Amino acid sequence: MTNRTMMQYFEWYLPENGLHWKRVTAQAEELKRAGINMVWLPPAYKGAAGKSSVGYDVYDMYDLGEFNQKGTIRTKYGTRDEYLEAVHVLQDQGISVLCDIVLNHRMGADETEEVMVEEELATNRNQDISGRQQICAWTKFDFPGRADKYSAFHWNASHFSGTDWDDAGKRNGIFRFDGKNWNRETDSENGNYDYLMGADLDTENPEVIKETHDWGKWYLDTVGMDGFRLDAVKHIGFDFYREWIAAMQEYGAAQGTESNLFIVGEYWAQEIWKLTHYLDVVEHRLSLFDVPLHFNFLAAATSDGNFDMSRLFEGTLLAADPEHAVTFVDNHDTQPEQALYSFIPEWFKPIAYAIILLRAVGTPCVFYGDYYGIPHDNIKPAQGLTKLVKIRERYAYGIEHIFFDDISIVGFTREGDIEHSNSGVAVLCTDSVQGRKRMYMGEAFAGKCMVDAMGGICEKVTIGADGWGEFAVNGGSVSVWVTEDAWEYLYTHL
Ligand code: CA
Repeated sequence: MTNRTMMQYFEWYLPENGLHWKRVTAQAEELKRAGINMVWLPPAYKGAAGKSSVGYDVYDMYDLGEFNQKGTIRTKYGTRDEYLEAVHVLQDQGISVLCDIVLNHRMGADETEEVMVEEELATNRNQDISGRQQICAWTKFDFPGRADKYSAFHWNASHFSGTDWDDAGKRNGIFRFDGKNWNRETDSENGNYDYLMGADLDTENPEVIKETHDWGKWYLDTVGMDGFRLDAVKHIGFDFYREWIAAMQEYGAAQGTESNLFIVGEYWAQEIWKLTHYLDVVEHRLSLFDVPLHFNFLAAATSDGNFDMSRLFEGTLLAADPEHAVTFVDNHDTQPEQALYSFIPEWFKPIAYAIILLRAVGTPCVFYGDYYGIPHDNIKPAQGLTKLVKIRERYAYGIEHIFFDDISIVGFTREGDIEHSNSGVAVLCTDSVQGRKRMYMGEAFAGKCMVDAMGGICEKVTIGADGWGEFAVNGGSVSVWVTEDAWEYLYTHL
């Protein structure tokens, strides 16, 4: 078995030229050769901002770049045909495709409706701050440009539980629709964090449940993807996705195809108990991004060498439930100028990527903006990232030994396995000054020479008869040790 390596194949500031699906199609072979075997594509349907939409301002989930709506046929990324072509070409390369879906809210309604509401305190959505009042809400979605092709479902205020804009009073607020409650179980931030933005789907409404299930089946049939990335799961009643995923798995199994959907949810919270609780409620039918690990990386990278590296995995999903952890360093929300800005500084990126890519646990996700750079902000590709992806693919196998036992210099080793020739790797990193550390590689390595593939340390390490070696690392960096034969391969193939 080859290690699974995911790439988030977009960043926020891709050009709005409609060429992204063509780009990934053209790159499919190279991605496979690089060691990527799973790709997460951005939301593919029409957003309220038309050609400029990154995809999270979802307008019509049946319009994959096919209908003249929101001033454009194509989306920011291209047309429906180009999208389907991209998915098939990726799959032909043996790359699994995850589709990004947003079921929390809708935006860019076609018409307004008069709706009775109660306004809630923004910081406590359980507290009414007005009596019943009428607002003019953007909640009527008829999709005239699509004319009911694929689905005759039209959305109206009865399908939503709230909105944040009164078009009559031209004012913002958190408006809960009269007679509706926020979904019972969502994140507890702000009292109840059901409401995020736009017209919020009432996921307890039977018509909404039926429509989202119908759409999911249509999407599976149309695209034939291998899995999903679910947006904003903490803002959606927890029961909802448990049932939706079960329905999609059942449907896929019945078709004899997508019974093994890989699903990862975005639950943006640093508290590990929130993530493990969510996984319990959804019966572990999906994985979650390891948000706490991202914030531990950020803390380590911004503590001026004073972070306690032995605690790097404390409170992370990687520690609590590694089988359901999708590890990542950054994404389209954490990049500069975005909603959850918390971008990991450049010097720490190789350390963070060596950890998520080479450890035995978690499914790592490489961010497009780190792999290719972010021209919008003059950000260069993360140093050594292509090499680390390749090392993961070929050499990061076998039993793992953890040496996170020092406040500064920490590392881990992999013993390798017989299935992957020359496999086995040792990783040593520090947020502080240079140093050395003895780590156990395994007795099979006795007498073997290892080389720092990152190039920071020139001297080789010879593993002792007891399987231990003494490895070095430069200040604020990572060294990644592979056998001489492995190094020979990397040197000639990268
Ligand atoms: Ca919601």
